[in-house]
Amino acid sequence: MPRVLLVEDEPAIADTLVYALETECFEVVHALTGADALAAARRETFDFAILDIGLPDMTGLDVCRRLREISSLPILFLTARDGEVDRILGLELGGDDYVTKPFSPREIVARVRAILRRSQTQPPVTQSLPVSGNPKILHHDTSAMRIHCHGETLDLTAHEYKLLLVLLERPGRVFTRDQLLEHAWQDPGAVTDRTIDAHVKSIRAKLRAVRVGAEDLIQTRRGLGYLLSL
Ligand code: CA
Repeated sequence: MPRVLLVEDEPAIADTLVYALETECFEVVHALTGADALAAARRETFDFAILDIGLPDMTGLDVCRRLREISSLPILFLTARDGEVDRILGLELGGDDYVTKPFSPREIVARVRAILRRSQTQPPVTQSLPVSGNPKILHHDTSAMRIHCHGETLDLTAHEYKLLLVLLERPGRVFTRDQLLEHAWQDPGAVTDRTIDAHVKSIRAKLRAVRVGAEDLIQTRRGLGYLLSL
């Protein structure tokens, strides 16, 4: 039975989620505060965490940061505002997904299942094709599953790596968000177009950190999708 750590201070929301998850055969430990959640995480092992962002003693992002020091368990964020999404999926936090309130408990259960499935399977070995652009700018190390930019290793999350690899294997080709979801996510039904946008934003920031002042390698084709320009 997968064990879920639910961190949510609103009793009505927590009750609904506990009920929905337990009905679907998850074991749920519910914490009302960040401190309680961290204490539980130190005491017990969990397969998954659901973190509300607005908690009374600290933010869900702080909880995530501290959880990450002791565990790499998948994390789903509950957020009241769309504007928080960039930070959730942002550079250092490594959240796996997010849901904006109000949500249906069924949606949460579906997301949890999808993320657990993804995290339990190895990332698919993407067939490596010769990179036709300039290999000095971006280079894919197939065996290490790393992408280097101007010789520097990019510190990418699994999804960022897969997403950039899809673009890198066909420089100049426009990929729609649906195509990127299909290629880079094992369960594309569980994420939204905004997830792609947030990941692209994060990859761009990592590329910019190496290529200060240079033009973005990932270009947006408004209304169509993204392409890599080398
Ligand atoms: Ca709250």
